[in-house]
Amino acid sequence: MPKVSTIAIDGPAASGKTVVGRNLAQKLGFQFLDTGLMYRAAALATLQQSTSLSDDAALANLVSEVSITVTDTPNGMRVHLNDEDVTDSLHNSEVEAIVSRVAAVTGVRTVLVEKQREMAEPGSIVMVGRDIGTVVLADADIKVFLEASAEERARRRQAERSQSDAKTSVASVQEKLEARDLQDKQRTESPLKPADDAHILVTDGLSIDQVVTEIVKFVTARE
Ligand code: C5P
Repeated sequence: MPKVSTIAIDGPAASGKTVVGRNLAQKLGFQFLDTGLMYRAAALATLQQSTSLSDDAALANLVSEVSITVTDTPNGMRVHLNDEDVTDSLHNSEVEAIVSRVAAVTGVRTVLVEKQREMAEPGSIVMVGRDIGTVVLADADIKVFLEASAEERARRRQAERSQSDAKTSVASVQEKLEARDLQDKQRTESPLKPADDAHILVTDGLSIDQVVTEIVKFVTARE
């Protein structure tokens, strides 16, 4: 894929970014980075250290002092916070309840965006998040913004988690997703929104493969 080296995929919570991005990266032989995991690790560090959520300076300081590393392995992405593998704690409800607050802090984003850009340096990467096309890789070769109705996203998320969390209703999953999206859209720093030059893909009723195929068409059109 000589003409395409960086692909940015953004979108609201549970819009399918991670699974689509991972499959696309595999198909193209690209590196994959799910930046949401880094914000989730920052939120987990906040909980572990009992840092005040109203103290922006303390949150920024905490994130600059901890080490957050993300590694793509055959078993998916693994995240280390300092020396501990915290991957399995990153999707719990405590982290999810505060991650958007932590991610709204400018100093937190400065640290994590720098790491993300370093990881993109070698090229051939699919990166997913909220501000990849607008900020992190503002000159990405291909930018995609995935949309899906809140109902569809809540159904997908509940299905993903249903084995461990069978009692959670779709309505309560939807309420939490929408609250997080609202916070992500309304923040001053790098809000969730499509880049002006992003392809908007509405994925209601589409399978993962169909979405990946659509993005591959954008890639081949650039060749
Ligand atoms: O993608 P995921 O749902 O795991 O992201 C968790 C949270 O991390 C988002 O709700 C958002 O607050 C934050 N995030 C962000 N910028 C990114 C990726 C995630 O602010 N690039």
